[in-house]
Amino acid sequence: MVMDIRFLGGAREVGRSAILVNDALLLDFGMLTANPPQFPLETPDPEAVVVSHGHLDHVGTIPTLLSGDGRPPIHWTPPTAELAQTLARDTLKLHGGSYNCPFTEPDLKRVTQVSETHGYREPFEAAGHEITFYNAGHIPGSAHVLVDDGDTRLLYTGDFHIDADVDSSGSNGHASSVAGQRLVSGTTARPDADIVLCESTYSDVDHEPRATVEERFVESVETTLWDGGTVVVPAFAIGRTQELMLVCAAHDIPCYVDGMGTQVTEMLRQYPDYVRDAEAFRRAISHARFVTGRDGQRKRIVDQKAAIITTSGMLSGGPAMTYIPEIRRNPANKITMTGYQVEGTPGRDLLETGSAEIDGRVMPVSAQVEQYDFSAHADRDGILEFLASYRDSSVLINHGDRCEAFAEELRGDGFDASAPELGDVVSVEAST
Ligand SMILES: [Zn+2]
Repeated sequence: MVMDIRFLGGAREVGRSAILVNDALLLDFGMLTANPPQFPLETPDPEAVVVSHGHLDHVGTIPTLLSGDGRPPIHWTPPTAELAQTLARDTLKLHGGSYNCPFTEPDLKRVTQVSETHGYREPFEAAGHEITFYNAGHIPGSAHVLVDDGDTRLLYTGDFHIDADVDSSGSNGHASSVAGQRLVSGTTARPDADIVLCESTYSDVDHEPRATVEERFVESVETTLWDGGTVVVPAFAIGRTQELMLVCAAHDIPCYVDGMGTQVTEMLRQYPDYVRDAEAFRRAISHARFVTGRDGQRKRIVDQKAAIITTSGMLSGGPAMTYIPEIRRNPANKITMTGYQVEGTPGRDLLETGSAEIDGRVMPVSAQVEQYDFSAHADRDGILEFLASYRDSSVLINHGDRCEAFAEELRGDGFDASAPELGDVVSVEAST
C-alpha cells in the first residue's frame, strides 16, 4: 500500500504547518504570523487530527476544523491541548470577528468536546492509523509523531531540540552547566520509520553551546543589576519564559514574570512529567515574582534591581509595551532579546537601529540592547545527528527557509531526500 502525504502548509516555509496523510489523518493545522496572518491552503475534512506541539504555527488554525459539520477527534499531549486552547483564546481576543481570525468562540468550545490526550509512548488509533508520540524536546508536551498505516511508517519530527554531547559542547561540567534546555530534555527516541518528515528551521546555523549562551546572559544581567540598572527580558510566553525563569533561579537572579507567560507557567505547573526537572521547575516558580497588577505596579517594578521576564518576545505587544518606555532613557538599564526576531518586528528594529516603534510611537533607546540565542530548535549538527539514524529512510524536509538547499546537501551525503512544495502530494511505498 502506498502512503499519500499532502502538504497544505509548512512546505518550504515556516508557519501554518498542515500535512494530510492518506486523505484522512491531518497532522497539525497552524497559522503563519504575518500581517495579515496566513492559513493552510485549504481546510480539509479529516477523520482525525494529530498535533505535534502547542505553538501557533502548528495549532493556530485548529478550531476552524470544527466550524462545519465534521467533529474529528483531536489527539495531542495534555500540555499541547492546553496551549492550543490558550493560543486560540488569545487569537479570538486579538482578531475575533475579522479576517485575521478564521474561527469563532463556538468553534473553540467544540475543541474541548473532541479533545483526546495521550502521553509519550502510548500508542493509539486515529483515522485507521496507529499513532505514537515521542518526546521531541522542543517545549513541554512537544512530540515526534509516528504514523503507521499497517504497511508504511511515517515519522513526523515536528519541531525538536537535541541535547549536545556534554563532553564536546565545551562546557566545563560545573553545576550550572547545561547540555540542552533546562525546561525540557532533548529528543532521544529514534523509532524505525520508512519516511521521515523533518523540520529544518536551523539547517544552516550552528548554535553557540547552551552553557556558553547562559553564562554570557547571566554575567551581563548580573553586571547591570550590580550597577544599579534594571534588565527587561522580552520572552515568548511558551517555553522561553519558563526557561529564563529556570536560568534566573539557578543563578539566584531576582526576577519578575509578566504577561501571557505567567498563565502558561501556571498551567505547566500541573504537568510535572513534561518538564526535565520538576523540582527545579517548582523552585523557579517560587523564586520568581509574578506581576498580577496593572501599570501602577509595573511602574514601581522598573525601579527595582531585577530582571523582568515579559511578553512579547519580539516587542509587538504585551506588558513589554509598558516596561520599555519606562527604562529606555537610562544607559544603565538593559534590554536582552532572547529569541529570533522576525524582520519588521519592533524587536528586530531595536537590535538593528537602536530604536523601535512601541505602541505606535517610534522611541530611541539609550538603554543597552543585547541578543541571546536560547533556541528551542536543533541546529545543523543536531538535525544531522538526528537523521543519522535514518540513512535507509526517505527523508522529506519541511519547516525552513532553505528546505530545498538542505535536501540537496543531504542527497550529496547519500540520503534519499527531497523538499516538497506547498500543495504537493508525495506518495511513498514501504521499502519492504
Ligand atoms: Zn515550535
